[in-house]
Amino acid sequence: MKEYNSGKLIFNYGVMNSAKSLNLIAKAYELKQRGFNIYCFKPATDNRHSKTSIVSRAGLSVSCELLFLNEEPIKTAISNKIKCDRVDYILIDEVQFLSAKDIDELAKIVDKYNVTVICHGLLTDFKTCLFSGSKRLVEVADELNHITSQCACGRNATINARINKVDNSLIVEGEQIVVGGEELYETMCRKCYYKKLTNQRRKQRKQEF
Ligand SMILES: [Zn+2]
Repeated sequence: MKEYNSGKLIFNYGVMNSAKSLNLIAKAYELKQRGFNIYCFKPATDNRHSKTSIVSRAGLSVSCELLFLNEEPIKTAISNKIKCDRVDYILIDEVQFLSAKDIDELAKIVDKYNVTVICHGLLTDFKTCLFSGSKRLVEVADELNHITSQCACGRNATINARINKVDNSLIVEGEQIVVGGEELYETMCRKCYYKKLTNQRRKQRKQEF
């Protein structure tokens, strides 16, 4: 496990199913065991398993607080904790749901209180574009770590492809966020993604004639 100095903003990113939550839970347990005071958060939009815990697909979990981003600024939610308790580390899951402004506020919290904030989340959406919170993290974080996972072909999976389960085709248009729709996604490398997309478009053109 990596050592983190205090007062850092860290972004650990990866595609879906790359054990990001498991990684966060393992870090939370390790820090707790070493006597650090930690707080885990996740946006209230992510309600797939439990409202007050971060759950990995492997079945492990850690309790967390919810961030109601539409109701309360992130700096209020987090600095309230810091003012009431000793906080060494803050861990945030599903950070792609945060806005660029939320990330700027996190950076200010890191600098003001000298606390380390470890964020886990997706870098890009199903259209292969950066989430705005993730983009801001890339711009201002002290440290970026890529949690890798493999495509079926063996290359690094970097794309969260949204799949139409009826005909297994790629969905390339629609809302950026479909909460709780993980079964809609397949992670793959860029090469396999574009190969599938090109074949699909070729087939569609043939059907049009
Ligand atoms: Zn591939």
